[in-house]
Amino acid sequence: MDPSDLLRGAMLQISESDLVRKAVVTAPVSRAVVARYVAGESVPDAVTVAGELRTTNRLATIDYLGEDTTDAVQAATTRDTYVHLLDLLAEADLTAYGAAEVSVKLSAIGQALPADGDAIALENARAICEAAQAAGTTVTLDMEDHTTTDRTLATLHALREDFPWVGAVLQSYLHRTEADCRDLATAGSRVRLCKGAYKEPASVAYQDGDDVDLSYVRCLKVLMAGDGYPMVASHDPRLIDIAAALAGHHGRAPDSYEFQMLLGIRMNEQKRIADRGHQMRVYVPFGEDWYGYLVRRMAERPANVQFFLRSLATNG
Ligand SMILES: Cc1cc2nc3c(=O)[nH]c(=O)nc-3n(C[C@H](O)[C@H](O)[C@H](O)COP(=O)(O)OP(=O)(O)OC[C@H]3O[C@@H](n4cnc5c(N)ncnc54)[C@H](O)[C@@H]3O)c2cc1C
Repeated sequence: MDPSDLLRGAMLQISESDLVRKAVVTAPVSRAVVARYVAGESVPDAVTVAGELRTTNRLATIDYLGEDTTDAVQAATTRDTYVHLLDLLAEADLTAYGAAEVSVKLSAIGQALPADGDAIALENARAICEAAQAAGTTVTLDMEDHTTTDRTLATLHALREDFPWVGAVLQSYLHRTEADCRDLATAGSRVRLCKGAYKEPASVAYQDGDDVDLSYVRCLKVLMAGDGYPMVASHDPRLIDIAAALAGHHGRAPDSYEFQMLLGIRMNEQKRIADRGHQMRVYVPFGEDWYGYLVRRMAERPANVQFFLRSLATNG
């Protein structure tokens, strides 16, 4: 196994410790690191960043951070924050043609609640979809760890009965994903393909980076050949080139697929892709609950961890 795959796994495991969480959240340097990847803490912060991205022809998908929702009130607050966000995006004229949409983690709106979690998450997701429809834009359901995949896809199917434009994320590190791509490569179906960001066991997921990449290419082939709307979420230059070549091979129009990257990562490349006439959407997270998100970004790249630890050692 590649050493960076090992480091990634170790980072994700260590991050679950409460002590580590506290040390990172209270470290002075954290704010500076967070600012690179997170739009800010408030709804207006997120709207401002979506507006800035527009000036360079980039689209946005906005995520209100928070994933360990433990009660129904918190889930409802998250739902209301999304509805408020969608209202403000529409007011700022950022939702036309889906220029700014939202990404939602079902765990943030109730999926993990012990009683009726799926039903609560579905009801909250419906309210967000209604607000998105009124604003003229779309919603994409983020994908979390593999224990939630079936439930998230079931919620997707339920939502798509009323809101056929709701999108889902599939993760190429899971063995099952090529088959899921086949199921979802249908007309009107929006599928964001990513490698996957959670620590998953070998029983369900490829552990080697090369296998994850090969799976990504197989999934891309299915999605690009199908009738759906592929959303190519990766910073990997090789995968981006392969996606563009496959789109060309299948005669896809530029508005029949899009590229996606995260805020703060390869920002110049994002602009170059948009300048070449491709649709380029940036994932814009915001909110106070940034810890889990930040750790996953750190784990993706050893250089980021070194940068962070060096800053901690020198107290920022
Ligand atoms: C729009 C979007 C939505 C996503 N949604 C989900 C989701 O719902 N569920 C989920 O599990 N995962 C999600 N992810 C995360 C994804 O699964 C990967 O963890 C992440 O994108 C890194 O994989 P990569 O394809 O960029 O390839 P990698 O092999 O990780 O990276 C390729 C290259 O990109 C650059 N790079 C990548 N990450 C970083 C970084 N953190 N800092 C600096 N440079 C970096 C480096 O140059 C690196 O060599 C999403 C990613 C994107 C872009």
